[in-house]
Amino acid sequence: MPYTPIAPNLVEAIVGHIRYHQKNLGARYHSEDYTEHETAGEMTTVGGATVEVMALVKFDKKYSYGQDAERSVQVGATAKCHGWGCADPRSEESFGEAAPLDANGYDIAATAEPLVQAAREWAQAHAEKCRAQPYTGR
Ligand SMILES: [Zn+2]
Repeated sequence: MPYTPIAPNLVEAIVGHIRYHQKNLGARYHSEDYTEHETAGEMTTVGGATVEVMALVKFDKKYSYGQDAERSVQVGATAKCHGWGCADPRSEESFGEAAPLDANGYDIAATAEPLVQAAREWAQAHAEKCRAQPYTGR
């Protein structure tokens, strides 16, 4: 039997990013506001390039005067075409509601699913018409 790799579970991957951020809070060189990209699918366009679907995990920290800083996490999705010279290479980035960083990671990750689904649909439709070729360096 040929070996067929199984794609990582997206919810688990997002929960992993959230746990990593929680664990590294306060660590030196660890940023408090950044966006993690998790590949959630790849499609081949008619031109042979790749459209990548990504889940986004955005961390933020806000200060309000006289209060403790509020850390939050927001999940979202986008898709990007890697075709060279593609005329419309990116879907919109869409995000769900921000949740407190200490909320349940699985609940937060689950909110990514409809957004990732929309990004996959954009990617599929784009792949069916995009004729930009992959850049080969020549
Ligand atoms: Zn394209």
